[in-house]
Amino acid sequence: MRDVIIIGSGPAAWTAAIYTARADLKPVVVASQVEVGGELMNTTEVENYPGFPEAVMGPDLMTKMQQQAERFETEVVYDDAAELDLAGPIKKVTLGSGDVLEARSVIFATGSAYRKLNLPREDELSGHGISWCATCDGFFFRDKTIAVVGGGDSAMEEATFLTKFASKVYIVHRRDEFRASKIMQQRAFDNEKIEVIWNSEIAEIQGASGLTGVVLNDTVTGEKRELALDGLFVAIGNDPRTHLVHDKLELTSEGTIAVEGRSSRTSVPGVFAAGDVIDPTYRQAVTAAASGTVAALDAEHYIAALGDVEPALAAV
Ligand code: NAP
Repeated sequence: MRDVIIIGSGPAAWTAAIYTARADLKPVVVASQVEVGGELMNTTEVENYPGFPEAVMGPDLMTKMQQQAERFETEVVYDDAAELDLAGPIKKVTLGSGDVLEARSVIFATGSAYRKLNLPREDELSGHGISWCATCDGFFFRDKTIAVVGGGDSAMEEATFLTKFASKVYIVHRRDEFRASKIMQQRAFDNEKIEVIWNSEIAEIQGASGLTGVVLNDTVTGEKRELALDGLFVAIGNDPRTHLVHDKLELTSEGTIAVEGRSSRTSVPGVFAAGDVIDPTYRQAVTAAASGTVAALDAEHYIAALGDVEPALAAV
């Protein structure tokens, strides 16, 4: 019987793997079939992760974390968790392949997923002018006019990055001030290719087979106007990825997995959660990594308390 299955492959998951592997719990990481590395795979330079004074590229950071986990013999499964059976003392994780992994504990670190605008044509035009990832798709917009929606760090980062390719980048924000960190705002303000459209939201997406523009709604006056665009990048935040557990674990009113105090203990014994999936507020690579540590230590204590008792017989 395995001790721990870790679901996810972002900073929380790999850090939990490093700690549990070094505690000789021989973790298996269910790292996803297509999205190994999580959100940081879609970022460029990470300047605020301690230990990298010259910054580190998001994908490089994630590769290093995985290598560090594998150095201590973490097993990695490149598949998705499709179904979970968490209620009993033996936790079962069914993979996309149909294989079932069993363990005495599970660390759930599935992160968060891009938020959508929820407008008609958004899904159809995804990949045809609409994108959620500047580093993946920016290259296709050389000398084009594009807009980034949002006012957080992601929007600033995406807009600044996209000026490498596009001739003009609008940032469309629904209020008259950004919530992004000052340094990232300033970088956008200082860039001549970027123009901010304040107090505006996207009311309509235009284009038949490819995006041709949007209709903007002025959030103060209610006036509408058209804006011709070749590309639209949506950077309006993320929602915790809880679809596998929403009927199995207690959630908070913000939609994150509820944990006990500062621990990673969820409403089900032996199930721990870490990273963006429990964090509605901070959601940084470094806080996710720290949260992975907490989950690993909690899992370690839980396994130790079970002792040598067979899990099916243990009182948990
Ligand atoms: P965020 O901080 O939650 O910001 C989301 C932005 O989108 C907000 O400005 C919000 O507007 C806007 N928004 C939300 N829903 C919207 C809607 N339906 N229509 C239009 N606008 C909408 O998300 P984020 O920028 O993705 O950042 C997430 C976390 O990652 C943050 O903690 C951030 O610091 C971190 N991050 C850090 C870095 C870095 O340090 N290098 C880079 C990227 C992200 P309001 O402001 O009006 O609410």
